[in-house]
Amino acid sequence: MDIVVVGTGYVGIVTGTCLAESGNRVICVDIDEEKIAMMEKGKVPIYEPHLESLLIRNIEAERISFTTNLASAVKSSPIVFLALPTPPGEDGSADLQYVLNVAEELADIIEDYTVIVDKSTVPVGTADRIKEIISKKTDVEFDVVSNPEFLREGYAVDDFMKPDRVVIGTRSQRARDMMEELYQPFMRQGNRIIYMDEKSAELTKYASNAFLATKITFMNEVANYCKEVGADVDMVRRGVGTDNRIGPRFLFPGMGYGGSCFPKDVQALHKSGSEVGCDFNILKSVMDVNAKQKVIMHPLMKEHFNGSLEGRKIAVWGLSFKPETDDIRQAPSLDILVKLIEEGAEVTVYDPEAMDNIKVILGDKVKFAKRSMEAIDGAEALLICTEWAAFRNPNFDLMKKSMASPTIFDGRNLYETSKMKAHGFTYHSIGRKPVNT
Ligand code: NAD
Repeated sequence: MDIVVVGTGYVGIVTGTCLAESGNRVICVDIDEEKIAMMEKGKVPIYEPHLESLLIRNIEAERISFTTNLASAVKSSPIVFLALPTPPGEDGSADLQYVLNVAEELADIIEDYTVIVDKSTVPVGTADRIKEIISKKTDVEFDVVSNPEFLREGYAVDDFMKPDRVVIGTRSQRARDMMEELYQPFMRQGNRIIYMDEKSAELTKYASNAFLATKITFMNEVANYCKEVGADVDMVRRGVGTDNRIGPRFLFPGMGYGGSCFPKDVQALHKSGSEVGCDFNILKSVMDVNAKQKVIMHPLMKEHFNGSLEGRKIAVWGLSFKPETDDIRQAPSLDILVKLIEEGAEVTVYDPEAMDNIKVILGDKVKFAKRSMEAIDGAEALLICTEWAAFRNPNFDLMKKSMASPTIFDGRNLYETSKMKAHGFTYHSIGRKPVNT
């Protein structure tokens, strides 16, 4: 099939590449000329495991190409995916300007029956708004399908190729048949396509993300309670997670959720609910608790340094909002870094992939180390914000020698407390008793 993907960010580039890999001819469109030029050369502008080799293979096979010209791309394609940003607006609702502007443009471009597939996360009723915009300007037949994307950054290729499920929201049989043909190659492992109406599909995405954010947040509150009453959250997590009804995932306590999806989607669902009189009190609590959780290490660090961080040498490992990505959008590291900088700490940071992105925001307010061990050289404390695999088993003896004081604030519970005690570290983690030397 001939397919156009509009927007080549995390979702668009993965969608385009994976659809090309299954034999389709894909044209990816973006307004960012620099991005398009990079991708034409086989360079992926984001860090996403396995994506670049797949992209190069499909460029060589001439199944994928790139352009900034929406009109020329769409002319030959019956299916147009929208993978456009839906960032939070000032009032917390999803800002739909990118999606609706492209819908306006498409109305002037389409010449034959076209299926417009919305992959962006959008509030209930957006497919109807797109339909209204386009049908005002053209008599050409078209359908709008809601096909929310569930991929996880860091596992995006695998998630697209072997999805748990694909949600297709459409009431048009013609569009449904085309989507079925397109997605069949990805459905060979017993996973399935779930068909529904557009509104239900739109809400499925928000409800999934809001539920996961709630699960994480609930466990963070349990962790904070554990600490107060002397229980060990790791034990509690294992005990809870082995219940089949609950499951072990999204139960790891930490410095709160971040990223480009959970924060904005929880906020947007809360806002959409309030517009129709559904208070979604639970989501309000989730947002409040998460905001506090992101900086939960700050008072502990301050207390450790007798009330002042001024001039303290602090190393930070991990900046991305989770491992295996360079994405720092709404990352907990940013919230706490801002506090450390404000209070005069001398901060040196290290992340395997996200350093360039942090540089854009923090510039020379922090120092950048080339390696994790370089970051802790002479540090009076190490703060861990992201659970990159490379941080899981460091040489503790070397760390102790290198640091001015062997103190770790572990926002991701990477280490056993007993091990840290044996190695002679002062060790603070989430929901577990601190280890003091
Ligand atoms: P992104 O910001 O990484 O990428 C969006 C791309 O769209 C950018 O490259 C931008 O230049 C381009 N763009 C903006 N306006 C354009 C226009 N008029 N024409 C062509 N291109 C244009 O966004 P993303 O993370 O890929 O997210 C896209 C959507 O998918 C959002 O709604 C998001 O909530 C949703 N989503 C994201 C993820 C994720 O993990 N990132 C997962 C599932 C769903």
